[in-house]
Amino acid sequence: MSNDPAPGTRAARPAQPLPLKVDVLVVGGGINGTAIAREAALRGLQVALIERHDLAVGASAWNSRMIHGGIRYLEHAEFRLVYESLHERERLLRTAPHLVKPYPLMIPFYRHNNRPAWLLNLGMTLYDLLSMGKSTPNRQILSLDKLRSEWPGITADGLVGGGVYYDTQVRWAERLCVENALAAKAAGATIHTHVSALRVLHSGGTVTGVLVRDEMTGQESEIRADVVINAAGANIDDIPGIGSGQPLIGGTKGTHVLVEPFEGAPKTAVHYEAVSDGRAVLVLPWNGKYLIGATDIFVEGDPALARTDAEEIDYLLEETNRLIPSAGLSRESVVFSYVGVRPLPRASKPGSSANVSRDHVIHDHAPQTAGLWSIIGGKLTTHRSLAEQTLAKILKYLHVRSRTRKSVTRVLPLPGGNTSDWAKFRAGYQAVSTFPSGHVDRLLDIYGTRVTVLEHLAALRPELRAEVTPGVLGAEIANAFEEEFARSISDVLLRRTMTGLTRADYGDHGGAVAEASAKLGYLSNEEAERQMQEYVAEARRLLPPGSETFARQ
Ligand SMILES: Cc1cc2nc3c(=O)[nH]c(=O)nc-3n(C[C@H](O)[C@H](O)[C@H](O)COP(=O)(O)OP(=O)(O)OC[C@H]3O[C@@H](n4cnc5c(N)ncnc54)[C@H](O)[C@@H]3O)c2cc1C
Repeated sequence: MSNDPAPGTRAARPAQPLPLKVDVLVVGGGINGTAIAREAALRGLQVALIERHDLAVGASAWNSRMIHGGIRYLEHAEFRLVYESLHERERLLRTAPHLVKPYPLMIPFYRHNNRPAWLLNLGMTLYDLLSMGKSTPNRQILSLDKLRSEWPGITADGLVGGGVYYDTQVRWAERLCVENALAAKAAGATIHTHVSALRVLHSGGTVTGVLVRDEMTGQESEIRADVVINAAGANIDDIPGIGSGQPLIGGTKGTHVLVEPFEGAPKTAVHYEAVSDGRAVLVLPWNGKYLIGATDIFVEGDPALARTDAEEIDYLLEETNRLIPSAGLSRESVVFSYVGVRPLPRASKPGSSANVSRDHVIHDHAPQTAGLWSIIGGKLTTHRSLAEQTLAKILKYLHVRSRTRKSVTRVLPLPGGNTSDWAKFRAGYQAVSTFPSGHVDRLLDIYGTRVTVLEHLAALRPELRAEVTPGVLGAEIANAFEEEFARSISDVLLRRTMTGLTRADYGDHGGAVAEASAKLGYLSNEEAERQMQEYVAEARRLLPPGSETFARQ
């Protein structure tokens, strides 16, 4: 007879035990922390990552979801950053083909633009030159006739031409973080979600570890480490013991709104110069709807407390209505909105937020504290190269020779991209999947080749094949808790299955998943009920300011 308690009577699943000592301790489970953990583990180092909430709760989720060179940075002559980003973009198309897809963007040339047509054209040409050898098409200049026939919704007032250039989109940026964490684990790292860094510990000018607390059990302990990487995003100045003196971060918040398809909605993304302030506004087809963003406003304080202001929503809607007069968007059109804080380097003379470099800095705290680095900035796009650069510093510091093999991450697929031919894998899996047919494409888009893990779980427990609620199978819940470091209903729904970003009936689907999680033995009934309430509260942060209920059900 099994000694396991009956399903539904267990407290929250025991967390993976924390290590006592590692070579490298990474603080922060955003894209940069998870990528550094992956790179360090692949170089043979003993690695642990701690994240105070869940993977991808910060800027790594609440962004524009573009893996891009950053055409806009060309006007600030950031050629090296654009070159690096464009090459990382190409690598991700190969290493994560299930998540990162080619994505055309149209730039309309208007007479009122601050940037004249010739400059925009030059920018797109440079973009192509800096990404020579890419797999996506080159830019295309459009005639007025073509523009009017293919983008009939955009205003013809002052329109003198336009062009299309290619970048890529990552529909589920959250999953990019999860996959980096999975890759780190596969290489030997341990990943600990809901564990906070309380204080960085040092002795005689050298880092010795971090005092941590498991936020679910309240238990505190020390993890000793030869190297600590502070990848806490816009929070890097806030961890006691960092001791940088001057703040390193000068964060800016960026809001996006999500709207249903509207009259005159463009068939591709549109990159538009706002009439009111000349900033870039992006109208981005995303997940069957349109994401419009982003604002760029200096903020202070805890980024987790940053909120969208009604004026930001009005600005984004007004600019979209100017571009597409038939859109008629109003606050009522907003399905949800989200805000992220860019962990940008603090500028001595801030000026315009748009002028602050989007490049990253790997800040060495030596000589004050040797063995401690803080990651400032860093785009979603450049996470891998940033990690490679960070490891070069760590390995030099540790004088590790036997383990300094070259980085393999330029070509090594992420766990869900582990195939030489994604289209073939996809077609093959569609033919043999044992899951209900309506779920198969969704599973492939989220888990890539790791659908085989779901199949394996379902083969062991056939009841996992069933749908728990539209958009969630039992196997996905099991996978989230058992394989992907989830410890709560919010983790499962907002950052693993992605249901929380596709359905607004949070109470209903949250309730169904909570009940199933208890039934499957991952949570006690009480814990499931409590976490369900927390999930609804967390999801309510997506409500646009002033709204009490979601516009869609
Ligand atoms: C509006 C907006 C749009 C953007 N658009 C794009 C884009 O389209 N393409 C692109 O490439 N980049 C984009 N970016 C930039 C990119 O998203 C960020 O630079 C990147 O995600 C930063 O990742 P990070 O891991 O450093 O930080 P984060 O993702 O913020 O992660 C930091 C993590 O540290 C954790 N943490 C904090 N304190 C502690 C502690 N004490 N203990 C343990 N953990 C802690 C947090 O919970 C968080 O999960 C955008 C950013 C924003 C805000």
